[in-house]
Amino acid sequence: MNYKVDVAVIGGGASGLVAAICTKRNNPDLSVYIFEGLDRVGKKLITTGNGRCNITNKDINLSRFHGENPTFAEFALKKYNLDAIRSFFNSVGIELIFENDKGFPASLQAGSVVDCLRFECDRLGIVTVCGCKIKEISFKNGFTLASDTDRIEAKSVICSTGLYSGGEKLGSDGSFFRLLKEIGYETVKLSPSIVQLKTETELVRQLKGIKIDTKATLMQNGKPIRSELGEVLFCDYGLSGPAIMNLSRDAARADSGFSVVLDLYPLTDTKALAETIYQRRQTLKDRHLEEFFTGMLNKRLGQVVLKHCGYKLSDKAEALTKDDCKKIAFTLKALAFKITGNNGFVNSQVTAGGISTDQFDNKTMMSKKHKGLFASGELLDIDGDCGGFNLAWCWASGMLAAEGCTEYLRGLK
Ligand SMILES: Cc1cc2nc3c(=O)[nH]c(=O)nc-3n(C[C@H](O)[C@H](O)[C@H](O)COP(=O)(O)OP(=O)(O)OC[C@H]3O[C@@H](n4cnc5c(N)ncnc54)[C@H](O)[C@@H]3O)c2cc1C
Repeated sequence: MNYKVDVAVIGGGASGLVAAICTKRNNPDLSVYIFEGLDRVGKKLITTGNGRCNITNKDINLSRFHGENPTFAEFALKKYNLDAIRSFFNSVGIELIFENDKGFPASLQAGSVVDCLRFECDRLGIVTVCGCKIKEISFKNGFTLASDTDRIEAKSVICSTGLYSGGEKLGSDGSFFRLLKEIGYETVKLSPSIVQLKTETELVRQLKGIKIDTKATLMQNGKPIRSELGEVLFCDYGLSGPAIMNLSRDAARADSGFSVVLDLYPLTDTKALAETIYQRRQTLKDRHLEEFFTGMLNKRLGQVVLKHCGYKLSDKAEALTKDDCKKIAFTLKALAFKITGNNGFVNSQVTAGGISTDQFDNKTMMSKKHKGLFASGELLDIDGDCGGFNLAWCWASGMLAAEGCTEYLRGLK
């Protein structure tokens, strides 16, 4: 098919849907089309937040966002802050509720977010063309885009195609990123982020399935890089859980030299913990070490730690000396896992890196190379922590791109 449109939004994901809605609301006279590569819009959005969609976070501040120049995101995030996001979602029928700082739709259904965004697109008369993967783009008196079967002439283009996280089934094949690279856009090295970490497996295999609340510290060549308090899950390949996901960005961006150290007693110092363990040894002298930590620690974790420290589980607690108790306390405060890799883009929630933000104006999201071309969401070199920050960036940058695009088209008249 041939299309002639005012605004072509490429990608009907989180950012593209919001960009299309806001552009059309800004100027209902514009013809706004979404061109989506998959057979439906919002396929990734449905999977977010374990099906609950963690829409945003009360604590939006720049320290939660990353990239070569995270300050690029500041203008959009301030302008489209929590109040603006809440009011946008209310306007399409979604009430927000909060669990701690994390915002979710009150339905706790990610599908309802996609539905409400789709209903609003339909109500506004936005045309959605699915199964249209854009493979070519050229610039002459506006933009010409092409898929295998469609040809689109557009006065302006909003690029909201995301990157690689979640994999091809969710539309994340990086095809449009490569297209922009081919036509000269600078890019920043890509790596998976918010992803499980692979570690040496001897210890984690014995602990498989155990979840603990802990302080996890990412170490690079023995130096602490970043710490996170939260849940860690032991898996047969390594470590998962929110605390690990938030540490994964740095670990995945370098090749080697990283380890994760878990402090299983973050609120107690080593000396006090050693004393507690020694007191326990006095009280439970006759217990075999196999059951020594039963009632204090996850039973299997306690056994694995004692074995890791070199003790026989068949020995009795009375065999432990004061120094042994110090050694055990030290291990519980610093259980170390050498990182060997990560679970890759398909299993990651977001891609770090992307199209360099240097080539875009952060007040309008317009390209400095091609007037009338805008970008939003994950495609750009901005990514956030786990906790609703990535979607917060998608909404804010999509809304700002919509505003920039409407202004640009007003100026063409
Ligand atoms: C499992 C999972 C859970 C997550 N949970 C959360 C969460 O709870 N909270 C949070 O903040 N973040 C979460 N994220 C991250 C968040 O989903 C992404 O940051 C966000 O979806 C990115 O939005 P986007 O619009 O930039 O790209 P996408 O949502 O990836 O949308 C891009 C769209 O463009 C289409 N497309 C791509 N290339 C082309 C092309 N060449 N032509 C036409 N169309 C194309 C794709 O098919 C896709 O529909 C999660 C991610 C995953 C994978």
